[in-house]
Amino acid sequence: MDTLQKPHVVLVTFPAMGHSIPSLDLAKLLASHSLTVSYVTTRTIERRLRGLMDESPQAAVLDIQLVGLSPQSAIEAIAEGRESMDLLPNGSSLAVISFIKSLREPFEQWAEEQGSRRPVCIISDMFIDWTVHSAERFGSVRVVFAPFGAFGTSVFHAICNSITTNTLRKEGDSVIIDNILSSPLKFTKEHMPRRFLESDSADTRLSILIGMMQSLTKCWGMLVNTFDELEPRYLQHLKNLLNGKPLWSVGPVVPLGGIANTRGKKSDISEQKLVQWLDSKSPCSVIYVSFGSQAFLSQEQTQALARGLEASHQPFVWSIKISPDTVSAESNRAELCASYLPEGFVERDKGLVIWGWAPQLVILSHPSVGAFMSHCGWNSTLESILMGVPMVTWPMFAEQHFNSKLVTEELGIGIQFCQHREAIPCEDKVEKSVRLVLCSDEGTEIRKRAVAFQRLGKRSVGGGSSTLNLKDFANEMHNLMNCKAE
Ligand code: UDP
Repeated sequence: MDTLQKPHVVLVTFPAMGHSIPSLDLAKLLASHSLTVSYVTTRTIERRLRGLMDESPQAAVLDIQLVGLSPQSAIEAIAEGRESMDLLPNGSSLAVISFIKSLREPFEQWAEEQGSRRPVCIISDMFIDWTVHSAERFGSVRVVFAPFGAFGTSVFHAICNSITTNTLRKEGDSVIIDNILSSPLKFTKEHMPRRFLESDSADTRLSILIGMMQSLTKCWGMLVNTFDELEPRYLQHLKNLLNGKPLWSVGPVVPLGGIANTRGKKSDISEQKLVQWLDSKSPCSVIYVSFGSQAFLSQEQTQALARGLEASHQPFVWSIKISPDTVSAESNRAELCASYLPEGFVERDKGLVIWGWAPQLVILSHPSVGAFMSHCGWNSTLESILMGVPMVTWPMFAEQHFNSKLVTEELGIGIQFCQHREAIPCEDKVEKSVRLVLCSDEGTEIRKRAVAFQRLGKRSVGGGSSTLNLKDFANEMHNLMNCKAE
């Protein structure tokens, strides 16, 4: 089909791996439905993704344009080349938000230059609120993309709302949410980010977050990275919030064309070495340990975790990420091991340590992997579900606490052993949790439930609900373009 006849949709993405990876997967899915897609991000992420796209066999056939924007004046704390959360130390969110705000002008300038290719739709990350005005300015519809699940998004929205209206209901250490389901949802401190427990009105991050969540429903429709069968009650709640506007669950968005070794970033281990190592282990015996792209552990935390893992006597693959501000480029492997791991840990050879980026989908899909120790970022959670792997959870911040509640209490496909980013995990709890999931009857039951959700997830993206919803969304884009042309 001629490019001119295709609807042009623009994804405006948030510069964190947990947002940019699913947004790119979504971009590819949309482009495979005869849409012209522009993927708007920061220069740093654009450069990184361009490198990966060039290696992909679909790059030549999919109509996706990567657009890297820079602010007109530099933002302090975000040096050029570091415009991505995974390249910034913990606690950089305020600087990133200022950075994002400063991209509105260059974005609108770019959109202006598109002339007759002006987008019919701006698909905006749920954390980017200025797209409300850009969509108005260009006569595009605004569709919000929620890279969180329906439960996480609903709870986030409900809490922000009740803080705004001063109606946040607390009972002792717990927060009660009344307006999502017909019966109240109780969140103990294990499942609630500290920010919401304290809800300090002087907390700038909290006010910004509330502002962002207020733009959630200022949209024409919503795309959610989940599937209908996983969280039906919470999807219904979001539909109620949207008040008749459409919602499409299109997840789990995963790479078109199967599992790629280079998803998001180039992996820091050879796939061959990794797979050989995994092949040498028994089925479902290995625990994969990784806390996403932006939770950097301290020496104390890695030491405690290492001791717990070793005590479990189960093999592990552990992707360790150290804060960019504490590790100099010159740090070598031996120095890292000496400061972050117990003495002799590496020599005892109980597991495989990856210093840096791991090919997560390759690992999770290997038959030897029987559990995923995760921070419960939504992408990691969905990927674990899609691979039928039970979870051992340590939610660290933001909606990860809610995801962990969903995984452990609602879906019954994991257990939580720790919470909050700054906590030092209890070694004994690490050991017991790993053994419970991998070596006990209770673990077998957890695995059965995980496999049942895996089947549903595979069906949804293999021709079922998510496939149909995606087609429906693409059709709507074609309809919108035809209406404009009339
Ligand atoms: N990821 C990866 N290798 C890593 C760490 C993360 O491939 O070493 C991918 C992971 O598969 C997921 C994304 O990065 O798709 C992380 O998103 P998530 O929502 O789980 O966590 P976040 O990084 O946003 O905290």
